[in-house]
Amino acid sequence: MKNLWNDADAEKMVADYAKKGVGRDLALRVYTTRLLGGEPRLVLHGGGNTSCKTRATDLVGDEWDVLCVKGSGWDMAVIEPQGLPAVKMGALLKARGLESLSDEDMVALQRSNLIDPASPNPSVETLLHAFLPHKFVDHTHSTAILAIVDQEDSKALVATVFGDKMGYVPYIKPGFDLAKVAAEVFDADRGVEGLILDKHGIFTFGDDARQAYDRMIHYVTVAEDFVAKNGKPQTAKAALPAKLAKPSDIAPTLRGAVAVARGEGRFDRMISDFRTSDAIVDFINSAKIADLAGQGVSTPDLSIRIKTGPMAVPAPDADKLGDYKAVIRGHVEAFSKDYRAYFETNDALDDVKRIMLDPMPRLTLVPGLGMFGHGRTLKDAKIASDVGEMWIEAVRGAETIGNFQPLSKADLFPLEYWSLEQAKLASNKPKPLTGQVVLVTGGAGAIGAATAKLFAANGAHAVIVDLDPAKAAEAAKAAGNNSIGVGADITSPAEMRAAFDKAIAVYGGVDILVSNAGAAWEGRIGELDDALLRRSFELNFFAHQSAAQNAVRIMLEQGTGGVLLFNTSKQAVNPGPKFGAYGLPKAATLFLSRQYALDYGAHGIRSNAVNADRIRSGLLTDAMIASRSGARGVSEKEYMSGNLLGQEVTADDVAQAFLHQALAERTTADVTTVDGGNIAAALR
Ligand SMILES: [Zn+2]
Repeated sequence: MKNLWNDADAEKMVADYAKKGVGRDLALRVYTTRLLGGEPRLVLHGGGNTSCKTRATDLVGDEWDVLCVKGSGWDMAVIEPQGLPAVKMGALLKARGLESLSDEDMVALQRSNLIDPASPNPSVETLLHAFLPHKFVDHTHSTAILAIVDQEDSKALVATVFGDKMGYVPYIKPGFDLAKVAAEVFDADRGVEGLILDKHGIFTFGDDARQAYDRMIHYVTVAEDFVAKNGKPQTAKAALPAKLAKPSDIAPTLRGAVAVARGEGRFDRMISDFRTSDAIVDFINSAKIADLAGQGVSTPDLSIRIKTGPMAVPAPDADKLGDYKAVIRGHVEAFSKDYRAYFETNDALDDVKRIMLDPMPRLTLVPGLGMFGHGRTLKDAKIASDVGEMWIEAVRGAETIGNFQPLSKADLFPLEYWSLEQAKLASNKPKPLTGQVVLVTGGAGAIGAATAKLFAANGAHAVIVDLDPAKAAEAAKAAGNNSIGVGADITSPAEMRAAFDKAIAVYGGVDILVSNAGAAWEGRIGELDDALLRRSFELNFFAHQSAAQNAVRIMLEQGTGGVLLFNTSKQAVNPGPKFGAYGLPKAATLFLSRQYALDYGAHGIRSNAVNADRIRSGLLTDAMIASRSGARGVSEKEYMSGNLLGQEVTADDVAQAFLHQALAERTTADVTTVDGGNIAAALR
């Protein structure tokens, strides 16, 4: 592993932070923490921490010996000084004399000795850092180290690889007990330059930031070299079907299978992040992959991200996709059954009250294709994939020099169900549409953009489809929540299909369609050019049908229901003069909505329509408003608020109606009117 220490960079950071009142020790602590955090083979999504022992001044001017240690919630790659809260050393050191200390009391002790009470919680490994005498202490979950410690006879192997330079600490759950034992191992041989923690990771320490960092890189390199020099021949590969299915062929089925059924047609859905590379596929194609996945996580804190470990499924045969759905569902069922048994067996061992987390896998390995990370948000799904890549790194190394044997699941359980983690999860309340994907056509227009934004604010990821790709991207940015923009002419069936394929590629599927795109053409019906009427039908009817067909195809594969929402306009029920070219296909689309409600209700797919009128948009531009209000001899304001309520109706009002229809779980075949009251357009 490359040593990235650079004197000039280090001194620049010291100088920059000095201007902000941050001392040299803490500035260098930030510098090497970022170096470690930027390397996924060392530290990934919270798996690691660092500290330095220095002095700090409190509000009344008293100076204290403190431990600045990584705070929870901070990413080491981008850490700032405030991400390393200062804890008074005296109290921490005194704790070593205690017989025992519960996790809750440990957190209380750490928090009550913070110099700044607004700091994040200091790391759970704070006491371990404190009990070691060195000024700088670094800790990572290096994949090369895990290849050595995730073995049956890891203690002997650690001695072979590192000699007497590193102390060996048997596996103990992080917290007070681990801190005490690690300190005893160090005291037994104070000449060691670090500690290897069985089934967990590595600590190195030094008198200054550079020494601790140099030692980390050095011993990780020693481990890497050992794996490289002592490799055995690769294990056999599994046989693959002659014709493999594509990831998009199986993604919706898989996404549906891992959704958590809440009963009565309700689901907590997940987002799937597909990831592949030659290295990933080469590893997953191992004939042993199901056994390896069943062994579990490579270091215990990965259980927070991928539970008891990945789920491996068979390679999908493109010619037998019909049968593959049952194969996937069978594997997910087996995984969740094992997970329940794991929970029940281990939960029964004591009187602690725990709530079982959902039993669904967070990482699926598919030979021939790659892997899918699953999570309630795209961010969580991507984290699961990141973790999956590092799991592969560690397991590949372990299998190269021996047999991957990580921490047992019984020992993993107390960590996954650690009270502090459970409390964190309980405070993380999902939004009404968390885990759902909405595809909005005409998504860059006034109504489409407002709807996408409102749905995203309620937790959905939005796929914003628009003729103009730049405007679609802009609307996606405005919507937020990792939404995407897709350029497509939706009157082309191929481009419509491609837009849905994109939704599958990025999120794994689609749950809500807002079929909104439309355009108005004018002319008296008796004199209308046939080509113009047909053109209007292409966009204002057939594109809705094509969008709904694509959505329903995916929803049926997912098997978790869904919602189709159509923008049908007031024209569908109350024609305006010379507006037949617009009203006729809109009337057909209103009927289309009802037909879908009828034909797919049994599959939990709902279908609703919104009748909106007189909304400032691409269909009703400011120029048109000026011309029409002028023609009627009323002011623009009077024209726009010419309804029973006497108020202008906006795109946001239409978005609210779509959201309401999406959330009303027992409402289908509904038409909601958003026009401020127009009695001639009122539905019977
Ligand atoms: Zn750790």
